[in-house]
Amino acid sequence: MKELVEARYYDFEGKRVRCRLCPHMCGVNEGKAGICGIRKNIGGKLYTTIYGEVTSIAMDPIEKKPLYHFYPGSGILSIGTKGCNFACPYCQNWRISQETDVPSEYYSPEYIVRAAIQNKSIGIAYTYSEPLIWFEYVMDCARLAKKEGLKNVLVTNGYVNREPLTELLELIDAMNIDLKSFRDETYKKEQKGRLAPVLDTITTVAHARCHVELTTLVVTGMNDDMQEMTDIIDWIAALDRAIPWHISRYHPSYNYDAPSTDIQFMYRVYEKAIQKLDYVYCGNIASGHETSDTKCPSCRATVIARSGYAVEIRNLNNGKCGSCGYDLAVRQ
Ligand code: SF4
Repeated sequence: MKELVEARYYDFEGKRVRCRLCPHMCGVNEGKAGICGIRKNIGGKLYTTIYGEVTSIAMDPIEKKPLYHFYPGSGILSIGTKGCNFACPYCQNWRISQETDVPSEYYSPEYIVRAAIQNKSIGIAYTYSEPLIWFEYVMDCARLAKKEGLKNVLVTNGYVNREPLTELLELIDAMNIDLKSFRDETYKKEQKGRLAPVLDTITTVAHARCHVELTTLVVTGMNDDMQEMTDIIDWIAALDRAIPWHISRYHPSYNYDAPSTDIQFMYRVYEKAIQKLDYVYCGNIASGHETSDTKCPSCRATVIARSGYAVEIRNLNNGKCGSCGYDLAVRQ
């Protein structure tokens, strides 16, 4: 482990410190950590205990993030750490997100950037657990990566304050942001957060130069409700109907054992959403289903066909439909 790195975005409040990185705004007493478990008050200063601490590293298809409109078919070096500022009871990655004493290995930003270049990656994806609470390390890696012409991708719950988000947006090329529910009471009960800051983040990112896609995990008994799904669809459509929306199927995990999401419900949501949004995708379902393909919203030609993580680019010309020329908002 490298020496501790002082955290960004905090204030002194007598003997405790106030972290301003995310909307929890934790007041952290000496010797304690904030809600995320990894930003700690040591001797009256706030430190990140996970700078460079990597729990998972792999070359992944960009489709796994999921990003379907950002360099489709490419591979990206993906890294993750431990800790999270949410507490989703169904978390698929709970071993690293909800536990802070899991094994990790220190990698310098220089090492990560070199590994990305050697593996012919398009860039670096900060993913697996919550990268926003890894802020200092993500910024250092992203800055170096940018200098080398690499892309930076964040897969995130969107729970961050405006000031650090603005700083990140200088360096981040694409984000997939979770919109876990459209009910503030669900965010309070299940994620231990709030809805409004997540909507703020999505709006800010959508208005920035950063490419954005959204994901909603449809969880049995939590948000598998057509009115709630309709509210999400209407909200995204009002923001920008060209933002791709991934609806992902839940399977039991961690502390949540309700049955897997009803697949027919997923398809009904898809049918409803595709009336108002240009790009809707069902994820975590059987490979090769047409709801994984990218179709041109204008002429309905299949532009990109997908089966699992296998990608067949059929009809795409510099981000435009090869049949009718419609701009598909695909970065290539
Ligand atoms: S980043 Fe961690 S310590 Fe800081 S406010 Fe959020 S949960 Fe609290």
